[in-house]
Amino acid sequence: DVIGQVLPEATTTAFEYEDEDGDRITVRSDEEMKAMLSYYYSTVMEQQVNGQLIEPLQIFPRACKPPGERNIHGLKVNTRAGPSQHSSPAVSDALPSNSLKKSSAELKKILANGQMNEQDIRYRDTLGHGNGGTVYKAYHVPSGKILAVKVILLDITLELQKQIMSELEILYKCDSSYIIGFYGAFFVENRISICTEFMDGGSLDVYRKIPEHVLGRIAVAVVKGLTYLWSLKILHRDVKPSNMLVNTRGQVKLCDFGVSTQLVNSIAKTYVGTNAYMAPERISGEQYGIHSDVWSLGISFMEIQKNQGSLMPLQLLQCIVDEDSPVLPVGEFSEPFVHFITQCMRKQPKERPAPEELMGHPFIVQFNDGNAAVVSMWVCRALEERRSQQGPP
Ligand code: ATP
Ligand code: MG
Repeated sequence: DVIGQVLPEATTTAFEYEDEDGDRITVRSDEEMKAMLSYYYSTVMEQQVNGQLIEPLQIFPRACKPPGERNIHGLKVNTRAGPSQHSSPAVSDALPSNSLKKSSAELKKILANGQMNEQDIRYRDTLGHGNGGTVYKAYHVPSGKILAVKVILLDITLELQKQIMSELEILYKCDSSYIIGFYGAFFVENRISICTEFMDGGSLDVYRKIPEHVLGRIAVAVVKGLTYLWSLKILHRDVKPSNMLVNTRGQVKLCDFGVSTQLVNSIAKTYVGTNAYMAPERISGEQYGIHSDVWSLGISFMEIQKNQGSLMPLQLLQCIVDEDSPVLPVGEFSEPFVHFITQCMRKQPKERPAPEELMGHPFIVQFNDGNAAVVSMWVCRALEERRSQQGPP
């Protein structure tokens, strides 16, 4: 419509817009149009949050070549996507991340060429401390990108360092919109730095009670992220609100999953390895499986909604083993949500929903519409609120 008003004579079958890196993205279908609008919407939100002037979205027409002149030699090009762009059908949803994917891909290329090292990284703010590690917001000089770098002190042999590095290789293969992007890792003396995508909304543990229509969309992404990991035979092993990250684009991604047994073991030797999100069978030292991740999923979302700061004191953990699972107060939450949590937190691991049952649960089905704008708007508003409470810098 817009192009028609300016160039009434043109036959336009496609147009282009520029992403944040100035790369031209072509729009040919409704699907691509949706992605463009979501991209623009999140840019506007970002500009609003940063107090900048809102810039209009510029589009550029792409006129058709006159018929008859095209492909005079009858050449055929295979336009099918390359193999393993998405290794699982669970991750094929289009998220408004055209440009994000592109820059991540560029960054991955740079990093895969062995250019990732301490000299190229400028550490900025501390994002938080966890069990054994500190996460920094950092600037990667060659690519000009912001990263999140987790630094963990590990006094281990060179042999074990090598083992960890090779176990982390699988992270390069993780390609899902619901899993944090991995850019590389390196050891310097007795510490490992793990570089990942920076999420400007931070983790879910710092948000107050989340409206259910937002929480539902977050839960959908978390379930899809877990399903993706499970499809690669990876158990997360540390599902909790602080390992669920959000950004102002409305994306939700999982981080800190246990791909490297050696890394998990090395950290566990130095730090206490129990937390309040662990399934009862794990606390009592029984076998860990997908079902144990499902428990942690349930208790995480219960915790987010009850949000009373830190969860149960450690001595209460034994209650989880010995007594009935905690339940959410009825009346305060919707029936599908309470049912979802209750099912995930069944004491018997086998009674908890299997991956396909999680995806088919009414609470998940209800919010599985790919509406990233809902989460985006909520994250932007929450960040704005946080900023205004903190006052001027
Ligand atoms: P644990 O060590 O048991 O996983 P944790 O998740 O609280 O506990 P860290 O993983 O060290 O601790 O993370 C510390 C904090 O850093 C998190 O709570 C989160 O807010 C922030 N953080 C981690 N990764 C990122 C990221 N990629 N982007 C933005 N913030 C992040
Ligand atoms: Mg973490």
